Amino acid sequence: MPIRQLSETMINQIAAGEVIERPASVVKELVENALDAGATRVEIVTAGGGLNLIRVSDDGSGIPEKELALAIARHCTSKLADDIHDIRSLGFRGEALPSIGSVARLSIRSRTASSENAAEIGIDGGRVSAVRPAAANRGTTVEVRDLFFATPARLKFMKGERAESSAIGDVVKRIAIAFPAVRFTLAGPDRSTLELPATDDSPEGRLRRVAQVMGADFPDNAIAIDAMRDGVHLAGHVSVPSFTRANALQQYAYVNGRPVRDKLIAGAIRGAFADVLPRDRHAVTVLFLTLDPAIVDVNVHPAKADVRFRDPGLVRGLIVGAIREALAHAGIRAATTGAAGMMAAFRPGATSYAHGGPANGHRSYEAAYRASGFAGFDLARSPQRPLDMGSANGGFAEDEQAAFDAGPLHSADARAGQEQAAETLLGTALGAARAQVHENYIVAQTRDSLVIVDQHAAHERLVYEALKNALHSRAVPSQMLLLPEIVDLSEEDAERLAMHSETLARFGLGIERFGPGAVAVRETPSMLGETNVQQLVRDLADEIADNDTVDTLKERLDKIAATMACHGSVRSGRLLKPEEMNALLRQMEATPGSGTCNHGRPTYIELKLSDIERLFGRR
Ligand code: ADP
Ligand code: MG
Repeated sequence: MPIRQLSETMINQIAAGEVIERPASVVKELVENALDAGATRVEIVTAGGGLNLIRVSDDGSGIPEKELALAIARHCTSKLADDIHDIRSLGFRGEALPSIGSVARLSIRSRTASSENAAEIGIDGGRVSAVRPAAANRGTTVEVRDLFFATPARLKFMKGERAESSAIGDVVKRIAIAFPAVRFTLAGPDRSTLELPATDDSPEGRLRRVAQVMGADFPDNAIAIDAMRDGVHLAGHVSVPSFTRANALQQYAYVNGRPVRDKLIAGAIRGAFADVLPRDRHAVTVLFLTLDPAIVDVNVHPAKADVRFRDPGLVRGLIVGAIREALAHAGIRAATTGAAGMMAAFRPGATSYAHGGPANGHRSYEAAYRASGFAGFDLARSPQRPLDMGSANGGFAEDEQAAFDAGPLHSADARAGQEQAAETLLGTALGAARAQVHENYIVAQTRDSLVIVDQHAAHERLVYEALKNALHSRAVPSQMLLLPEIVDLSEEDAERLAMHSETLARFGLGIERFGPGAVAVRETPSMLGETNVQQLVRDLADEIADNDTVDTLKERLDKIAATMACHGSVRSGRLLKPEEMNALLRQMEATPGSGTCNHGRPTYIELKLSDIERLFGRR
C-alpha cells in the first residue's frame, strides 16, 4: 500500500483512543471546558453509564456562532496563545471535541453574553453538520449520544453501566473539589443525584466542599496543611492517622487546580505517613500544589492527568515535610469515628452487640456494659480516692515508683494539695488518671469527657518516638562489612547514589563508586543487622531516580525502631500506680504522633460527657 495521508476522521479517532478512554473521560473533558469558560454552574446528565447520553450544561462565556465550526476542528483552541510553558487553563490541546465527535454523536448549543440567539452545530461520527440557530440562555450545552458507536472495538471494552456511571461520579467529585465556588449537579436514570452546592474559595469554603464530596466526618478527622518552599505552595487537608482507608482512592491531588494522578505525590504521602500507618492502610488526603506553570509540565499525556515537576525532590520534600509537621502539631488526636463507633455499639439495642439479633438487644447492652468494667464507676467520685489502682508492682519509671512507696497520703493538707493538682489535671487534654481496668486500660477524666487509654499501645508509641528522635538527631551507628559488597547497577544509578553518599553515610550506609556502573558498600547501619545489601542499594537507586531522595533508608530504620519499641514497652497486664498513669498521659500530650500506635490504631479514645449523658437518657 502506498503511503498516504490519513483522513481527518481517522486522525481524530486515533486521538480519541488516547483522550477518550471511557464515558468518564468525556465527562472530564466537557466539565473542564465548562470550567475554563468561567462557569459558576455545571449540570451533568447521563444515561446508560454515559454510553447512551452525556449532557453537560454550563453558564460560562459561551462560544460565538462564527467559532462553532472551529471548536470541533482539530488543534483549534482559544486557550493557548504561544507559550506551551505557561498553561493556566485545564484544556490547551484543542482535541477533546473533535475526538469525541469522531466516535459519537456530538452537538453543541451555545450563546455568548453579547449575542441575541444561540447557535448549534453537530458532528456525528466525524460528519459535521451546518451551524443552525437555536434557543438557549447564555452558556453552553454539549450533548454526546451513542458513545463509541463509530468504534465498536472500544465499545466492547466498557465495563457495564454501573461501573461506568460510578467512574463518572468519581471524575465529577475529583474535579469539584478544586472548584468549590462552582455548583455541580450530576443526575440521570443510571444514578442517584449528586448535588454539590457552591461554597467559596476560602479555606473554610474549600473544606466544606471536601466534606460534601468525602462525607461530613472528614473535617472532624482532618488536619490542615499549609506550607511554602522555594515558590511552591502546598495547601489542603490530611486525615489523622486513625482515620484511614484500605486503598488510596481517597487521595486527591491538584497541581495548579488540575486534578492529577501522580506517582511522586502518592509516594510522598506514603512516606509522610509511613511512620504512623500500617502498610495496608491509606490516609485520606486533599492536597493542592500551586507553582509557577513554567516549572511543571502538564503536557505529558493527552489525558492531562500526569505531570512532571522540574524539581521532583523539592516537591516531595515539601509534601513529606509539611504533612509530618502537621501531624506533629496536631499532637494527640484520635479519630472521632472510634468513639462514635463505640457510642453506637453501647446504645441500647445496638445490633452489633446483640448476638441473638435486635430482640435481646437490651440484655446484650447490659452485658457489654458490665464487661466494660464501668459498673460501679462513679464519674463524680472525689479525685483523691481513685478506684482500683491495683497493687503497686511493676511500672516503667523506677524513681517515680520509689517516691510513691511512701504510701497513700492522709493528712488534710496533703489531700487538699492533691485535690488541687487533680483539678489542674482535669484541664489537660487527656485529663487525670482515675483507674486502671483490665490491667491495660487507663481510665481518665477531663472536665467534659472520659478518656480510655490503651497503655501498651501508648507506651510503645512513646518509646518509638524517643528512639526515632535519637536516630535522627545524631549520626546512625554503622558496622563495617568484612568484605565490601559490590553492587552492579546502571551507570546512571551508580552516579546518582554516589551523589547522595554523604546523606547515606549519615544514616550509616557507607557507599562509594567502584568502577563504571557499580558501587561498593563498606558499612551498613548496625541497627539493620544482617541485611540484603544488594536489595537495599537497588531500592535506594530506584527511589533516588524517582524522587531524588533517600527516604527508603530512613523508613527502614524507622521500622526497626518500631520493632525495638514494641519489645521495650510496658506490656498490657502490668499494674500502674496513679503517678505512673498520669506520667504516661502527660508524656502522650507532649509527644507528637502519640494519638496512634505504631500500627495506626488509636492509643486512646475520648467519650464526651454529653454523649455519655445521652446514653443514659439524661439529655
Ligand atoms: P481545549 O479545551 O483544549 O481548547 P476542546 O476541544 O476541549 O479543546 O475545546 C475547543 C474549544 O472550544 C475551546 O478552546 C473553547 O474555546 C471552546 N469550548 C469548548 N467547550 C466550551 C464551553 N463549554 N464553553 C465555552 N467554550 C467552549
Ligand atoms: Mg477542552
